[in-house]
Amino acid sequence: MKTGLKILGILLFVLVICAAYVYSQVRAIEIERLSDDLHVLRGFGGNTAVLRTKVGAVIVDTMTFGLQGARIRQLARQLTGAEPILIINTHYHLDHTHGNPAFAEGTRVLSTTATLSHLKTLDTNFWIGDAAKFLPNETFDDRTTLQLGGKTIELVHPGPGHTDGDLVVVFVDENVIHMGDLLFQKHYPNIDLEAGGSVQKWPDTLENVMALAFNRVIPGHGATTDREGIREFQKFMQQLGAIGAKAANENWTVEEIQATGELTMDADYLPLKFIVALGIDREFVLKRAWQEATGNFQKGDGGIKN
Ligand SMILES: [Zn+2]
Repeated sequence: MKTGLKILGILLFVLVICAAYVYSQVRAIEIERLSDDLHVLRGFGGNTAVLRTKVGAVIVDTMTFGLQGARIRQLARQLTGAEPILIINTHYHLDHTHGNPAFAEGTRVLSTTATLSHLKTLDTNFWIGDAAKFLPNETFDDRTTLQLGGKTIELVHPGPGHTDGDLVVVFVDENVIHMGDLLFQKHYPNIDLEAGGSVQKWPDTLENVMALAFNRVIPGHGATTDREGIREFQKFMQQLGAIGAKAANENWTVEEIQATGELTMDADYLPLKFIVALGIDREFVLKRAWQEATGNFQKGDGGIKN
């Protein structure tokens, strides 16, 4: 009996330590200053941008957990001296949207029409009850411009890639764009074929992004970069698409494409990770290229939500 209690005590202790570790990792947010008015917040989930305007803060993406949303809101107040008045969701994945409900009720939430549709149809279990109040309440299809408290913000849907509804935020006065998950900097990308994503079309979409006016680039995941960072990623996607097309032409199996040595542009890429690997790695992207080229996936099914 005494030994049993001892073991239970040790197990509880280990559990508490693990929970405390996960909590600290979720709460940990790193701040990068890009200008007096623009900061990047990094934590578990996509990169968040915080812009100061004279009428309140603008938040781009809200990470994965309500706890993170609350921390983003608090940091935004500290960095800008004002309450967030607008959330922009770059796309529907949970690591960019599930922090939304931590903001004030009635906050403007903006996305593309396709993103709102994906949130409602592919992530239905989350966006019910009170959370539904934080779904996008303003949408656009291709392009829109906001004038807000002395700042100009352009929102552009440059085409399919990660999903079919991603938007790019142009912080015109700062010369910076936030690309959401249309750019994974030095990380393997998720390609959400089920939500209209495409390996084949992604390079052209990146070309449309290159036509915008900017110097610095906030990716969805990874470090802040520049035009060269987009070019490098574009070369990776082109190579991946070409390998997928070849696999379909030559009737390769999924195992054969995953064993190829032809993918070389990923030499310094890392798999996405939060405490443990999330399964978005070299094998995953090759499988997705094969699935798209051979038509082996079901549209509207929902993929990995990163
Ligand atoms: Zn994503």
